[in-house]
Formats: sequence, C-alpha cells, structure tokens
Amino acid sequence: MKKLKAKLMPYLLSIMIATSTIVVVPPATAVDVQAKTSYVYIAASGKGKCYHKNKKCSRMKKTKKLKKSTAKKRGYRACKKCYR
Ligand SMILES: [Zn+2]
Repeated sequence: MKKLKAKLMPYLLSIMIATSTIVVVPPATAVDVQAKTSYVYIAASGKGKCYHKNKKCSRMKKTKKLKKSTAKKRGYRACKKCYR
C-alpha cells in the first residue's frame, strides 16, 4: 500500500499544480484590479509631474484625488518620495 502511494504522489502533485495554474489570475489582470482600487494625489495646480501616495508630500497646497490608472494615463509618474 505504501509503495502504491509513493507512486501516486508525483501524479497527484501534477494534478494539484495543473489545477492551481488554472485558478491563478493572469498578472496583467491582477495589476489592473489593483490600479482600479488605489487612489493617488496630484497637485491641483496641474504643474506637478508626479502622483503621490501622501497628499502632504512636496508641500502641495491643494491636491486632487484620482485613480492611479488615470494619473498614469495623463502622463504622471510615481513620486520618488512616496514610491521608493
Ligand atoms: Zn510624493
């Protein structure tokens, strides 16, 4: 009985790996979901080129909150202070 189990193990493992591969979400989709849920801040003046995680960063007086994906589409880059 023990020998049979030992022979079955690689087979069972391959099934487990195959099943988990199907369940795993493609990386692109995972990033997209994250981008949709996270918000960033940009300077309301519109002069800034970076988006920030912290709205008090870079002494911004007024900030606009927007989706990270939107900020990226508008050409904003991640602030080096906020995203290290
Ligand atoms: Zn910043």
